[in-house]
Amino acid sequence: MQELLQKIHEIVGDNGLIADERVSQRSNDSWGQGSCPAVAIVRPTTTEEVSQVMALCHAAGQTVVPHGGLTGLALGAQCKPGDLVLSLERMNQIERLDTKGATVTVQAGVVIEELQNRAAAEDLLFAVDWGARGSAQVGGMLAANAGGNKVVKYGMARAQVLGLEVVLADGRVMSNMRETIKDNSGYDLKQLFIGSEGTLGIITRAVLRLWPSAPARQTALVACNDFDSVLELLNCLKQTLEGKLSAFEALWSSFYNFMTTETGRNKEFIKADYPYYVLVESECVDAERGREQFLEVLGELLEQEVIVDAVIAETNQQAADLWAMRDDIDAMVENLSPLIAYDISLPLRDMEEYTRRVNEMLAEKYSSHTCLTFGHLGDGNIHFCVGPVDDKPAVDKLVYSLLQEYGGSVSAEHGVGLGRKNYLHYCRSEVEVEMMRAMKRAFDPTGILNPGKIIDL
Ligand SMILES: Cc1cc2nc3c(=O)[nH]c(=O)nc-3n(C[C@H](O)[C@H](O)[C@H](O)COP(=O)(O)OP(=O)(O)OC[C@H]3O[C@@H](n4cnc5c(N)ncnc54)[C@H](O)[C@@H]3O)c2cc1C
Repeated sequence: MQELLQKIHEIVGDNGLIADERVSQRSNDSWGQGSCPAVAIVRPTTTEEVSQVMALCHAAGQTVVPHGGLTGLALGAQCKPGDLVLSLERMNQIERLDTKGATVTVQAGVVIEELQNRAAAEDLLFAVDWGARGSAQVGGMLAANAGGNKVVKYGMARAQVLGLEVVLADGRVMSNMRETIKDNSGYDLKQLFIGSEGTLGIITRAVLRLWPSAPARQTALVACNDFDSVLELLNCLKQTLEGKLSAFEALWSSFYNFMTTETGRNKEFIKADYPYYVLVESECVDAERGREQFLEVLGELLEQEVIVDAVIAETNQQAADLWAMRDDIDAMVENLSPLIAYDISLPLRDMEEYTRRVNEMLAEKYSSHTCLTFGHLGDGNIHFCVGPVDDKPAVDKLVYSLLQEYGGSVSAEHGVGLGRKNYLHYCRSEVEVEMMRAMKRAFDPTGILNPGKIIDL
């Protein structure tokens, strides 16, 4: 190992290699799962350095775990003693922003919020957005195929990628930094790496799409008396807002009550006794016309009793307060630990029945638990947070077995990592898992890249 580290040191220099007590001072994952047990952390600054380091690791059979901002929620970046961490944190350059083509060329370690701000300065929008924007990096976002709050309008991370550069397990560089939407010249290889959670290659650079920025945003929290109304609301807004609907976040009453009363926030936006709430956002270019349309549409929906209450943000601060209530993951972790979090998707038509049945089954088994349900409903994606419960395998089995009945997925957007690996077969067929293994063998024949994540060989 010392010889390998010496050679890596020669490539990346003093700043590029951490091999002392600073390794264990870092966390092993976003849930604060103890300290990092890796043998060292390599911090290259160029694709060429990543390539040389990977070639050495490949020859030595050294396992490598890629690290981005460590905000992933699937235990995908967790490492074991003896692993080498390859952190992209120093590859943090926004190389080029093309305002004419509305593209941006970035290194993998660029932090999402920085990218968003840089695009905004040019009146453009980088459209993937979620609560961990201040820490998550481009490479981690792409490796996890993150979704977030704006998928209903712009799609997931995958949909933003025009070009990608990846260092393969043996050090070869697969570069396809195209800046055009269309390229049907054979297999779209880049898509294999997006969502592969660091198991097939190290993402080093990307060309990403930008969108015209929407200078004005309308935000409202509305209440519905039943789930059918929530779905009707979604379909009405998609139609009547003419493509401007940019977020549709459903909050079950359990979630809303918890966030507005039991977290110390103590700020009730609207009455707390409705069964469902929806945080709705619409983006528009003309603030005045956009607001008029938004108010008119919500007014009609109130009249039709599709919604039964609403608060419309008058200022940016009020909108930020609503989002802060939706995004306060820390409050759940602080109040409900040991907490088990789920990130599932299933057809909208089955969602009410599924969530009701899960809640009933949990209530029968764990009398003192809390189950908070919320999520990106516009994308068929909901999250459960169950706690305090110290019985993860049993709760997992209950949640996922029932989900299988409805043809749902055990991971809508957070990935599989170590956390959901044992449940992959609940939503992927044997043939699919075998094809995943074949891909892993093809790209990483010696199994050094993020071993044990998603699938076992
Ligand atoms: C408060 C909070 C809210 C969140 N909300 C959402 C949400 O709404 N939607 C959503 O989709 N996710 C959400 N997440 C999850 C998380 O932010 C995303 O998964 C994010 O994309 C991970 O980026 P990261 O840079 O932190 O990656 P990390 O956590 O460091 O890594 C994630 C995975 O990618 C691999 N990886 C990292 N960098 C690279 C690279 N350059 N090349 C290859 N593999 C790499 C790692 O090995 C790991 O398997 C949330 C997380 C938090 C903490």
